[in-house]
Amino acid sequence: MVGPTLAAELASLAARGWDTDTAVAVLRDHRVRRPQLAGSMSARLHEWALQLRAPFSAMDVDSRCDAINLLLESATSRPSLSTHDGHKPHLHFAADGDDVVDRVKAITAGGLAIFTVESEGGRLGACLREGCPEVFVDTSRNGGRRYCSARCGNHDAVRRHRTPGRRRG
Ligand SMILES: [Zn+2]
Ligand SMILES: [Zn+2]
Repeated sequence: MVGPTLAAELASLAARGWDTDTAVAVLRDHRVRRPQLAGSMSARLHEWALQLRAPFSAMDVDSRCDAINLLLESATSRPSLSTHDGHKPHLHFAADGDDVVDRVKAITAGGLAIFTVESEGGRLGACLREGCPEVFVDTSRNGGRRYCSARCGNHDAVRRHRTPGRRRG
């Protein structure tokens, strides 16, 4: 499902520093149709991307559900089944004629909601390394991922190792 990873990448981009060209590339990577962000669209998508962080950084299942409900409320979603281009039946969250920001809002809010049903409230996370802007969809086997990358995990392991209280000699 496209929604959760698209949401994670947009939320991470907003935290790193929003950039229109990179945002369009992210949309293109996720095969969002007509991904160009003309006029005020980039600012509108940036604002949405900032809101997308909440479900990833939520501390527990209830607050994660609340955060996704808020997103669902502000996304105009008109779900329909589609079989275009020979695909198996799958869900489209928005009408094809909607502008790209409205479509992305519907795809990310609806996708996060369905994902969270299937994951039983888990598998969305924000990197634990202080100052790291990345959020992620946890596709690990045991669902225990805490860092965006091995690099961030190693950084924290080294730092813990170097805390003065634990140094010998
Ligand atoms: Zn489709
Ligand atoms: Zn990280």
